[in-house]
Amino acid sequence: MHLSLYRKYRPQVFSDVVGQEHITSILEKEVKSGRVHHAYIFTGSRGTGKTTCAKILAKAVNCLSPKEGNPCLSCEMCRDIEDKSVMDIVEIDAASNTGVDNIRDLKEEAMFTPAKGKYRVFIIDEVHMLSQSAFNALLKILEEPPEHVLFILATTEVDAVIPTVLSRCQRFDFKRIPIEKIAGRLHFVAEKEGFILTEDGARMIAKISDGALRDALSLLEQSSVYSETIDRETVLKAAGIAGRQYLFNMLEFIKTEDVSSGIHLLNSLYENGKDLSKFLNELAFLLRDVMLLKCSDKCADLLNCMPDEIDFIENYQKGVSMDFILNKLDILEKGLNSIEKSFNARVYAELLVIKLCKEANTAQPIEKPISVSAPKKAEKEKEKPIEKPKENAPAAAAPSAMQKWPEIKAELAKKNPMLASFLEESRAQTDGQFLYVITENTFFHKMIRTGENGNILLSAAEAVTGVRYKLKVSAAKAEKAENAALESLLAEAEKEGIPIKRD
Ligand SMILES: [Zn+2]
Repeated sequence: MHLSLYRKYRPQVFSDVVGQEHITSILEKEVKSGRVHHAYIFTGSRGTGKTTCAKILAKAVNCLSPKEGNPCLSCEMCRDIEDKSVMDIVEIDAASNTGVDNIRDLKEEAMFTPAKGKYRVFIIDEVHMLSQSAFNALLKILEEPPEHVLFILATTEVDAVIPTVLSRCQRFDFKRIPIEKIAGRLHFVAEKEGFILTEDGARMIAKISDGALRDALSLLEQSSVYSETIDRETVLKAAGIAGRQYLFNMLEFIKTEDVSSGIHLLNSLYENGKDLSKFLNELAFLLRDVMLLKCSDKCADLLNCMPDEIDFIENYQKGVSMDFILNKLDILEKGLNSIEKSFNARVYAELLVIKLCKEANTAQPIEKPISVSAPKKAEKEKEKPIEKPKENAPAAAAPSAMQKWPEIKAELAKKNPMLASFLEESRAQTDGQFLYVITENTFFHKMIRTGENGNILLSAAEAVTGVRYKLKVSAAKAEKAENAALESLLAEAEKEGIPIKRD
């Protein structure tokens, strides 16, 4: 059976636990002196060693010949606990409901004296998720715990645990493990496993895993599949970070108030199985980095992004105001709070993207009615005309067909024949300062997003018409679908009580 690195290298004694010396040293002392409490609560973020310490403690208090407060790992009790062949250790995962029956009968259970060892140990993981009745049962036992009972409660959300339970436990706060310590452990495991792990590879894994050793070891394992030498690039690839381009694209759409592209991007992420609230969270973190760099370049050490992403963020912050950043962060923060509770996360995420792409660059309250009558028109209202186009249509008029489109295509063919060839089946419209190119050719859509292609096309149009347009590209089919999606979105939003201004 394949054993994950995390399980294989799970610490067996307190001294092997990484980065929680402030806790393990006390636990060792308590076991050694026989002054063990009846209830402990271990809190801290995931992967920091809470369950690992709980298991070591359960062994240590039952071990027949403990060594300096640690389990000996070779006596009958230590071995039986390891094989799970002993009834005296009860593990309950409140999050997945396994063992909840145990807690219902907990009171009776706790009365039994241990079958073999000294203590009946109840390890309750994610204890904050217990039902009210289970909590009450737990509280009753904690009020008068039998001599032979030991509770070890673990939680990532200590604030959700009722104070009466907390007050009866000895509390230990597990810290996020520092990068150096995680990197050190990774080198140790890599050496045992025969992996070649470079220093920058180890640090990158440690940075990405954000203080959680469990995540670090599983990323090490994933990376080892990619390449024999695990360096920075391998890690980025394995973590899928090389593919964070969508975040940067979304930031650009927000800056350029490109609602349509924003919604399309969101939908393609959704269709590819991306968790949308996770995506919005990543976006918020990236915006936070923008904010920090906007404040001062001395904040660079606080950034959350990958080192090779700093250039983009540095450039981006130069193009936006602090008000703009704060406004977007505000929208994202309020949105992230509500998305979990919303009746349809996808619809809600779409609403958020519309808000992000449409709010003016000032700190306006986001409760104001959103004008989403038609994305193109609304965008136009926001844009301040920079120069007066020759085909100066009134603001409310429908876009008009571009008569000179064939000439523009011919002009474009002189400069970039390939780009022009993708436009064979296309039409164009103008609407004030905008030039809309409508084609279903996906090569064109890809090409126009890269390099100078957009400018080359606009220059060709300028050469023929004398007007420097702004470019909008759309796929005829997608446009129709988008309007339908927008309509249903509006209906949903109204149902939810969000004021919508229709015009
Ligand atoms: Zn032992």
